[in-house]
Amino acid sequence: MMMMMMKISALQIYMKDMKDMKVTRRRCWPCRDSHIKLNQLIWGENCMIEFMREAINLAVNKMRQGQGGPFGAVIVQRGEIIARGCNRVTSTNDPTAHAEIVAIREACARLGDFRLTGCDIYINCEPCPMCLAAIYWADIARIYYAADRRDAADSGFADAEIYMEIGRKPAERRIPAVQMLRAEALAVFREWQMKVDRVDY
Ligand SMILES: [Zn+2]
Repeated sequence: MMMMMMKISALQIYMKDMKDMKVTRRRCWPCRDSHIKLNQLIWGENCMIEFMREAINLAVNKMRQGQGGPFGAVIVQRGEIIARGCNRVTSTNDPTAHAEIVAIREACARLGDFRLTGCDIYINCEPCPMCLAAIYWADIARIYYAADRRDAADSGFADAEIYMEIGRKPAERRIPAVQMLRAEALAVFREWQMKVDRVDY
């Protein structure tokens, strides 16, 4: 009964929003389909498929060009791709140059913001823990992925292994973590908390 009431009220809000908002139809790139456009918001399942295909195409094309591993990512804001990234680990000698990180850096530079609030990311494979964390730091709204961590493991990538490591105690991980000089580090945090012109993130 509670669920029913919630559904009705959500529908009523939606209907009211439809009345208040400017509803138009717009031909959409890249799927060339016509979608309902509510103010700035455009959606369509075909677009989502095209965004994912773009990520998959990036993965295969850049891999063939020798950029790095078979990974591609696109970041979408209000129905439009604002950044693309491919894996560049081996071509740039950068172990952090995963497709998601490359795309997040490009999107942030383009928007002039360290937050990608409201943006979605499409990735040809489930993000590794580093990229998942970067997605959280960037405040991305939704993650769409194609292959998953087990598929990546089958191709020799360590994503699944690192996810398992996170669940272990720091000292018991394959790369041990040793805590030291905590008091001195805490002094830096205290100074941060007192900093009047700090930019929170
Ligand atoms: Zn990654």
